[in-house]
Amino acid sequence: MKIFISSDMEGTAGIVDWEQCRPTGSQYGYYRELLEQEVNAAIEGAAAAGATEFLVNDSHAAMSNLRPDRLARRARYLSGRHKPLYMMQGLDPSFDAVFFVSYHGSMSGAASALSHTYNPRAIAEVRLNGIAAGEAGINALVALGHRVPVVLITGDDVTAGQFEPFCPAAEAVVVKTSVSRFAADSLHPEQARELIRDGANTAVRNLGDAAPPAIALPATLTVRFRNADLAEMATWIAGVIRADDLTVHITDDDPVRLYRAFVTVVLLTRGIAE
Ligand SMILES: [Zn+2]
Repeated sequence: MKIFISSDMEGTAGIVDWEQCRPTGSQYGYYRELLEQEVNAAIEGAAAAGATEFLVNDSHAAMSNLRPDRLARRARYLSGRHKPLYMMQGLDPSFDAVFFVSYHGSMSGAASALSHTYNPRAIAEVRLNGIAAGEAGINALVALGHRVPVVLITGDDVTAGQFEPFCPAAEAVVVKTSVSRFAADSLHPEQARELIRDGANTAVRNLGDAAPPAIALPATLTVRFRNADLAEMATWIAGVIRADDLTVHITDDDPVRLYRAFVTVVLLTRGIAE
């Protein structure tokens, strides 16, 4: 049984500041270890329920935050930048389930520690089929494309709530309650890991009932930018339609192609985002 894990970093218990999750930050070494242990808790919980193979796709910043030899159960490690499928690189139909570990809230939603949607300097809001979506909801498009269920998400309370419309049956493990974008009330890391281990275990045990993400096709991503120049630039990409000064939309019956178009929008607009 194969599990695909997309690991971010902002959703780890205890993390509330960019300096804690940037390699240049003085506290990064400590907080990356907390992230590693949450990823391992997910792996161990799944392994105890029968999972045998793990691929961890490092999805945070330069995407090389984990130390390969620290990963449990001899998990494979997909790391590094410029991945065509970005936070979902490596997923294919041979996997049985997807985990999102240490995810965070969307730019547009309620206060969530270190919230953003791919690029905080460019993107103000993303809607998927009209529903406000964070990275987890957007990334679920790729899982849908491969018909693999997303069965676990870990992070703060807001992140869990935002993901619910897209994968209502997924186990949501809340390891902290956000107070603001830069403050949260976190569980002790040991308790967070226990809950993640249990959540992963339950998710894998219940795999027989799991379904691919509940996203109707063709699907539409509506992206609102922080200024009109960014919206204009996005329309240089084929299939991206201007809706108003700040907003574009993309519609596709192929969810993986839709996700790729969105990633292209993210990468292109990064060039002029302040
Ligand atoms: Zn991140």
